[in-house]
Amino acid sequence: MKINVPRGTCDVLPVDSYKWNYIENIAREIANRFGFREIRTPVFEHTELFIRGIGNSTDIVRKEMYTFDDKKGRSMTLRPEGTATVMRSVLENNLYLSVPTKLFYIGPFFRYERPQEGRYRQFHQFGLEAIGIDSPAIDAEIIHSACTFFETLGLKEIVVQLNSLGCSECRPKYREALVEFFESHREELCSDCKERLSINPLRVIDCKNPNCKQIALNAPVMIDFLCDECKAHFEKLQKLLSVYGVDFKVNPRIVRGLDYYTRTVFEIVSNQLGAQDAICGGGRYNGLAEEIGGKSLPAVGFAAGIERTISLMTKCGCSFGKEPTPKVIVIPLDDSCEEYSASILGKLRSAKISSDMIYAKKNLKKIFKELSSSETEYAYVIGADEISANKISVKLLKEKNQVDIPVSDAVNFVSVRGNC
Ligand code: ATP
Ligand code: MG
Repeated sequence: MKINVPRGTCDVLPVDSYKWNYIENIAREIANRFGFREIRTPVFEHTELFIRGIGNSTDIVRKEMYTFDDKKGRSMTLRPEGTATVMRSVLENNLYLSVPTKLFYIGPFFRYERPQEGRYRQFHQFGLEAIGIDSPAIDAEIIHSACTFFETLGLKEIVVQLNSLGCSECRPKYREALVEFFESHREELCSDCKERLSINPLRVIDCKNPNCKQIALNAPVMIDFLCDECKAHFEKLQKLLSVYGVDFKVNPRIVRGLDYYTRTVFEIVSNQLGAQDAICGGGRYNGLAEEIGGKSLPAVGFAAGIERTISLMTKCGCSFGKEPTPKVIVIPLDDSCEEYSASILGKLRSAKISSDMIYAKKNLKKIFKELSSSETEYAYVIGADEISANKISVKLLKEKNQVDIPVSDAVNFVSVRGNC
């Protein structure tokens, strides 16, 4: 039987991998520009971390985790998100001693979801976390950095949707009002929401079911229930976002999926992505560190989905830079020319000129035709005549011209022209 890639995962092939590198390079550049340093954590962790960190009532913990027992019977889980893992590492390595701790990550995450466009079982995120500061100023920095990332990628038509989920003081009253409201509509809700109503009523608000959406339009909203401190935090954040020139819309229906959020939550959405329209989600999670057994640490962060970012960039016609192609292709005309060709190839590579050799004995015309649609600039053709005359016959692929050069000029020819 043929073995294929597992459902919900995909290979990133060479025609696309340069796009990933392009995005990851920009992600790193932006993260560094905003003062964040890279952290790399394992792709699997003790299951307990996610149960306690993300919360039992979330879709992630209830349905989406890849959990397995290792050979000693310990329960492990492929990381479904980065925030709990980063916080685990910050606590374990005492990174919080320097305040704020500003970290970023890029890597794969795993959720057992129904695969569809923009929703995979292995997907990738770029995320930032700022730990140790309670001020809305750092929330603003986080949101500003996410917007700068997408703008640098050429994505202009994106919207920041902002909300506050309050804190342990004001949220319970809101939760009560919300449950009361939805209870009066219980029969009209989808089966998932009927369940959510008792375990995580906030999530009913962002159910994708059109019926539930309609009902939620009239539901009470958290911003009407904020305590004075939460209200002040939310107002200051909005002022600071304006200072940074970040456009945003307050959307009282953004609730996010994870239990650990407090106060600020936001999503960055595009109207060009269809159902899976969120390319980035984030917020403040002041309760997480304690939840996983650490000291109390205020924190805020975001995670951006790379697959959805690529898909949006493609739809918007954004540039991904260029796929790296060799500048020079060396073509030995037969086996007896390979040694001479190899010595030229070796010199080019030592001089940091990207170069390759064509081994396939194809028709030269065919080779030139293929090369003419690539970025390769020179074909060095080596036959018996070239070897006996100590020269190289150079095809200038862009200018459709041909010149002979002494073999001693193999490197210089490219370097000098490259500097023209
Ligand atoms: P959604 O509401 O679309 O399920 P989420 O709230 O579960 O998103 P987060 O946990 O906030 O998503 O993850 C941040 C970002 O990661 C999302 O905005 C999205 O771009 C991306 N993402 C999340 N889950 C997936 C997935 N299964 N496949 C591809 N990308 C994903
Ligand atoms: Mg989800």
